[in-house]
Amino acid sequence: MASFRELLARTKAEIREVDTAGAAEAMTRPGMVMLDVREPDEYEQGALPGAVHIPRGHLESKIETHVLDRATPITIYCASGVRSAFAAKTLQELGYTDVASMAGGFNRWKDEGRAWSAPQTLSGEQRNRYHRHLLLPEVGEKGQQKLLESKVLLLGAGGLGSPAALYLAAAGVGTVGIIDMDVVDESNLQRQILHNVDRVGERKVDSAKKTLTALNPDVNVVTYDVRLGADNILDIIDGYDVIVDGTDNFPTRYLVNDASLLKRIPVVHGSIFRFEGQATVFAPYEGPCYRCMIPEPPPAEMAPSCAEAGVLGVLPGIVGSIQAMEAIKLLLDLGDPLIGRLLAYDAMEESFRTFKVNRDPECPACGENAGEIVIAEYDDLCMPH
Ligand SMILES: [Zn+2]
Repeated sequence: MASFRELLARTKAEIREVDTAGAAEAMTRPGMVMLDVREPDEYEQGALPGAVHIPRGHLESKIETHVLDRATPITIYCASGVRSAFAAKTLQELGYTDVASMAGGFNRWKDEGRAWSAPQTLSGEQRNRYHRHLLLPEVGEKGQQKLLESKVLLLGAGGLGSPAALYLAAAGVGTVGIIDMDVVDESNLQRQILHNVDRVGERKVDSAKKTLTALNPDVNVVTYDVRLGADNILDIIDGYDVIVDGTDNFPTRYLVNDASLLKRIPVVHGSIFRFEGQATVFAPYEGPCYRCMIPEPPPAEMAPSCAEAGVLGVLPGIVGSIQAMEAIKLLLDLGDPLIGRLLAYDAMEESFRTFKVNRDPECPACGENAGEIVIAEYDDLCMPH
């Protein structure tokens, strides 16, 4: 019976070893595979750039899903060059013809100051937290990683912003920006579920940040306690992947529309009135914009704000949740987003209907002959000034 040393020596005699310089040289060849056979916790600490990771224990069963062509040049490494030597012998036995083990392993590679990086992988805690997402092939680890790297800006931490923010944060959207200049009032609590009795009098953005951070510490909550205006909107929305619009007035919606067209950021629109709600997605130059759908604001007396009209508290919960769903679909490129479709919800009938919304070729903002977009402040009559 052979001792471990004898077995290792015999194995090394049957495989090809390269030093770190040889491995670095091999990496420059197109089509080669750098294979990391360490355990997941070792891999998470850092790996060679572009390495394929298959833990030693899964090598035989998983190699074919990563490397089908047995003539592919493969350089294998582990921490020190022992496990990779045995792995090289295994791959040879499986018929792979161009296999080498990197002597000294990742430790020597790192000691020599060669390039390595910490791969973006989910931690054990994250795997647990997002398990129900990972079970969906349409999301999976890659999709979850994408959500964690995504940035969504919420306009308003009120009725629509509350459920949207809660679900986006729970889903692991890595950066959630919130703009709101109000303070929490007792009359908000009937529907604005980000806030609570202890927060009355507090700035809404601060209250929102506390709630969302307590729900999911993975989320970086960025707050803007300002009034959204022509002077700041382009700076604020810059860098966000999706805007969730929970504002309740026409001047702001036109402002958001024009700025989002300029920056080419999709807007998930939501609105509510008494027992009815609407949601749609404005994808710049792909579908209609807000001005295509509503070229002119209705007269003020026809469009009372939430404060004047009243609203059943659950309604924004439903519409804001739909907005969160649409935002996540856009981030993950899933299914059919509400681009060019207006979803109308009637709570009394308990019905959903969708209406087609077309792009207006004459649209002053996104039409073919539209002039240069000027970001202007709009008054209550939506006239620029
Ligand atoms: Zn338009």
